[in-house]
Amino acid sequence: MTLPNVARKTAIVVLAHAYGINGGATVDTHVRRLSNRLGFTTTQDPMKIEQDLIKLLPQPDWENWSRLIYHGRAVCNARHPACERCFLADIGPGAILPVNP
Ligand code: SF4
Repeated sequence: MTLPNVARKTAIVVLAHAYGINGGATVDTHVRRLSNRLGFTTTQDPMKIEQDLIKLLPQPDWENWSRLIYHGRAVCNARHPACERCFLADIGPGAILPVNP
């Protein structure tokens, strides 16, 4: 994070993929949105979201939170989440609660 243009999100990704170190959970716009929709957090603050997420999985699995990015791009996008073809539709709050973009 002392390098130019490297913030926490990038540092976590590089540590995990280049060095195998799980230093935190990557929180981008997709992870922020899905974490709220799925009820993992109630805040929009990336630092607080990360703290909520890392409490839910053991440290070796923290990097797996970045998988929400792919789900956010492919299915649960911001404006038109495709709940009708989502494998989480039966278990996520999005199945029963109005979705907030
Ligand atoms: S059920 Fe809908 S709101 Fe919930 S994760 Fe799937 S696409 Fe997103």
